[in-house]
Amino acid sequence: MNPKSADILVTNGIVITMKTGDPPIYNGAVAIKKDKISAIGQSDKFSSCKVSRMIDARGGVIMPGLVNTHTHAAMTCFRGLADDLPLMTWLNDHIFPAESRLNHQKVYRGTLLACAEMIRSGTTCFCDMYLFEDAVAEAAREAGMRAVVGEVLYDFPSPNYGPIAQGFAYTKMLIDKWRNDPLITIAVEPHSPYLCAPDLLKQALSISRSHGLPMVMHISEARSEVAEIKKRHGKTPVGYLADRGLLAENLVGCHCVVLTQEDIFLLKRHDVKVSHCPESNMKLASGIAPIPQLLKAGVFVGLGTDGCASNNNLDLFSEMDTAAKLHKVNTLDPTVLEASTVLKMGTLNGAKTLGLDDKIGSLEPGKFADLIVIDTKKPHLTPMYNPISHLVYAAKGSDVSTSIINGTVVMENRRLLSLNIEKVLGDVEKIADDIRSSNKKLRKN
Ligand SMILES: [Zn+2]
Repeated sequence: MNPKSADILVTNGIVITMKTGDPPIYNGAVAIKKDKISAIGQSDKFSSCKVSRMIDARGGVIMPGLVNTHTHAAMTCFRGLADDLPLMTWLNDHIFPAESRLNHQKVYRGTLLACAEMIRSGTTCFCDMYLFEDAVAEAAREAGMRAVVGEVLYDFPSPNYGPIAQGFAYTKMLIDKWRNDPLITIAVEPHSPYLCAPDLLKQALSISRSHGLPMVMHISEARSEVAEIKKRHGKTPVGYLADRGLLAENLVGCHCVVLTQEDIFLLKRHDVKVSHCPESNMKLASGIAPIPQLLKAGVFVGLGTDGCASNNNLDLFSEMDTAAKLHKVNTLDPTVLEASTVLKMGTLNGAKTLGLDDKIGSLEPGKFADLIVIDTKKPHLTPMYNPISHLVYAAKGSDVSTSIINGTVVMENRRLLSLNIEKVLGDVEKIADDIRSSNKKLRKN
């Protein structure tokens, strides 16, 4: 039925719903009532609809906002701080010293910058793992972004909460504080099998399950990690987690680069979701995750950028392009990871990875209105035979003109409406000054 009224009508675009089987709707429109999508169809269907705010897509693409399934948002503060170094030098000489000086305010400001970058490149929802996550939730709320946030938990004392018992208390505080928030979901986030004792992992899974929340963890990111777990437990990280009953349907395994056939079988059997972060894996020279094999086995895979220090951007359009091409060259098969598969990883399957696919990830009446408009009147997007091909292989984050999250317009014609960008940039410049003055190597440069 045609709606009589809409709060927002995004019209005159090619609607890509990402719902399985839906063809593109040319000259289409999406109607929004409050925070939800109320109707989708051809623009002329809405001619008699009373509309409070009309957004003209000017023939561009209207699609679900992208879902970043793994990042450390506040690491924007460390973008370009140190590159091209062996992992341990990078961590011990640069990242860990800088992180030891973080506090609630710095994480808040770094996350606001990340939100600005993500909104301006088409991401409407992100899953974060870091320190001071209450600040991340506050920043996401301020920016109007949907976010899944969880305090990183590990065996050694955290600069935020101290000993692990207080890490669980902090996580429970987050769960209580953000319960029923329209944009924020809390997750339980043990860092990895190599930095977390079995008891920590057990308790984390139990908390996540009793509250119906996702559990997010780095798994099998690098060969050194797999060797370490094999030394300690005689198993691969996935095999070890399976033995301890720690693989579950609410678990998001980030990276999953170094996997055996048996690992893939176990991930599928326990319905574990995987966050694929190809650019970070490439930059840190971790390896190439066996995504075609995971997909073939039926594992749900979403895309993530990982933190800004190992990427060095939060642009999921770039990540989709990289994912599609990396697996082709790796398998010497141009038919693997076709554009439609990758676009699904960036949208609906990303939402599924985070347990949010009943709310977001595709454009469907009744789902929350998280959508973006791509301006296709650009030299690099002309002509357009197949919009899905362009979204993966030709479009850039900077082609996103408008972003709506939870029914609120957060960017229109590339102008951020939810954030004061000058202030956001200035605040992070101040954090960078502090990092420069505390880092001898940087001072020398
Ligand atoms: Zn990570």
